[in-house]
Amino acid sequence: MENCEIPYHIDFSPLKDVRAERIVLQLPDGLKQYAACLSGKIQELTDASVFIDGDSSFGACDLHWPRLAYILRADVIVHIGHTPYPPSLAHEGVEPGGRPRIIYLQARSRHKPPRRLLDEVIGKMREEGWKNIVLTATSQHTHLLREIRDVLVRSGVEAIIPPSKPPYFEEGQVIGCDYHLARRFDADAFLIVAGGVFHALGLYLSTFKPLLQLDPYRGELIDRTREFEKFYGARLYKVSQAMNAKSWGVVVGLKTGQYRPWLVDKLVKLIESRGGTHHVYVMEHVDEQRLRTIDSPIIDAWVITSCPRIPLDDLHRYEKPVLTPGEARMALQGSLEPYLFPW
Ligand code: SF4
Repeated sequence: MENCEIPYHIDFSPLKDVRAERIVLQLPDGLKQYAACLSGKIQELTDASVFIDGDSSFGACDLHWPRLAYILRADVIVHIGHTPYPPSLAHEGVEPGGRPRIIYLQARSRHKPPRRLLDEVIGKMREEGWKNIVLTATSQHTHLLREIRDVLVRSGVEAIIPPSKPPYFEEGQVIGCDYHLARRFDADAFLIVAGGVFHALGLYLSTFKPLLQLDPYRGELIDRTREFEKFYGARLYKVSQAMNAKSWGVVVGLKTGQYRPWLVDKLVKLIESRGGTHHVYVMEHVDEQRLRTIDSPIIDAWVITSCPRIPLDDLHRYEKPVLTPGEARMALQGSLEPYLFPW
């Protein structure tokens, strides 16, 4: 490999026996800066022509395989940074010509939280009188969880790591639209090892328990509980606004893991049963500019069935309610509880 320093450990051994002519390398945006380095390594190992996917790939739900297969004629996609998307959550479409083989490689972050942050966790638990805590992480940090658990347990704290569900979830892993393995535990508090806010927010909205975030990139322990309580209040306000909606815009995702026809069907039937009207939009990418382009005065509220990050993270300040499917169901059923997240 060229002189490449990458703050992630990636095990390339699954590529050793790969026979392919055209390989596409796919990475989340945060790792794209290493793509030029990594493509050299893949080329060396496989002798294939390697193409770097320069478009965004927000998760294993966003593989672009139909156009990579049919336009580029790729045999293999090497997708780095995510575990496979659970098929129970989406319908990936028919495959008349077969899909390229998809090889998932994990990118293990080399950022390690300093010991003082674990002492802060222990101090916080004692201060709050919490007896047990569930440990979770995004895929880049799951390898840290056993070590964190051992430190906490040695200090008398009961720390639990949710089980794995191969190949979709590693031990303790959460994804932004599925927290079911973590929410099974009725602990006093939850901890997530992750950068950014979205995964921590999703975990809070799935559990409503005190939430500590250990951010290995910023080297910080953050108690997110108060901030997320306020955010939850704002979401309920959006849901209550949408209770009066007569006409709904329903966004259907066309990314490979974001097409959820049963969910669209359920929402459409619910809208109809309440005497409302709906307009169904199919699209791959939704952001504020796209929504402003497609928005119409006759639409009162939007529901996004593709990805819960869009309403929560990107569009939560939009003037009209832009809801997750769970929130839309609440609005349509005229009830502010229980809070349904994300579907
Ligand atoms: S939260 Fe959105 S981007 Fe992340 S895996 Fe789920 S659908 Fe994909």
